[in-house]
Amino acid sequence: MNFSWALIALLSCCLLLIALPSCAGERSLHTPEILGENSHSGRDQFEIERQEMVEYQIRDRGIQDQRVLATMSKVPRHEFVESPWKDFAYSDRPLPIGHQQTISQPYIVAYMSETAEISPDDKVLEIGTGCGYQAAILGEIAKEVYSIEIIPELAARARQTLSQLGYENIEVKTGDGYQGWVEHAPYDAIIVTAAPEKIPQALIEQLATKGKMVIPVGGGWHQDIIVLTKTEDRIIKEKTIPVRFVPMRRK
Ligand code: SAH
Repeated sequence: MNFSWALIALLSCCLLLIALPSCAGERSLHTPEILGENSHSGRDQFEIERQEMVEYQIRDRGIQDQRVLATMSKVPRHEFVESPWKDFAYSDRPLPIGHQQTISQPYIVAYMSETAEISPDDKVLEIGTGCGYQAAILGEIAKEVYSIEIIPELAARARQTLSQLGYENIEVKTGDGYQGWVEHAPYDAIIVTAAPEKIPQALIEQLATKGKMVIPVGGGWHQDIIVLTKTEDRIIKEKTIPVRFVPMRRK
């Protein structure tokens, strides 16, 4: 009896000795940075999730603009949502930001940013600041960003988040986006992140020649992204993908 227990113990030790080096080898071979970074703080977990978001939700779905990809790899989306939602900040979905509004799904932010064909010297208008995340992405790829939010509390919070993150080229005002922001017009690009039933005329007027507007249009929850391009002598409208944004409110 004693002999067989001793034999079992000996065999277990041998198995353990064989198994241990292979576990250690696998870890150090496949996940050295992840293990190293994770051990510092939870913030680094967000970094890992952000890179995965860019690979699987954005690049894999066809976004190719290197400046958009680099920016989405950098901007801390979790800083734009409140505590209960931080752990979901990099998931493939819109999230609540209060006042029955949402931050758009990451892919949609990337899609709109790429489609607007923004250059580093551009001046951009955004309608629907929400939490300020899309504005931050635009702030990274454009020279100046003007963003309008109709709900004063959201505008104030976005302003605070953006200034804490050090953005100095983004101005947020409380107001009705239907009127645009005439003082800074014309804009090289206009991105609208709430859906009107038809494209507001003021926005078409405030778009620069050769500029692009990317806007969800449609009543209820059935909308399409319209890409409007202004040329010297005409307006070209192209319907691209079906989307679901919150409706654009009237004051
Ligand atoms: N771009 C935002 C998501 C916006 S959700 C982000 O990155 O978080 C749409 C926002 O549009 C909401 O905050 C809503 O209050 C705002 N909105 C709705 N109608 C508006 C209007 N007429 N003018 C300006 N903002 C409006």
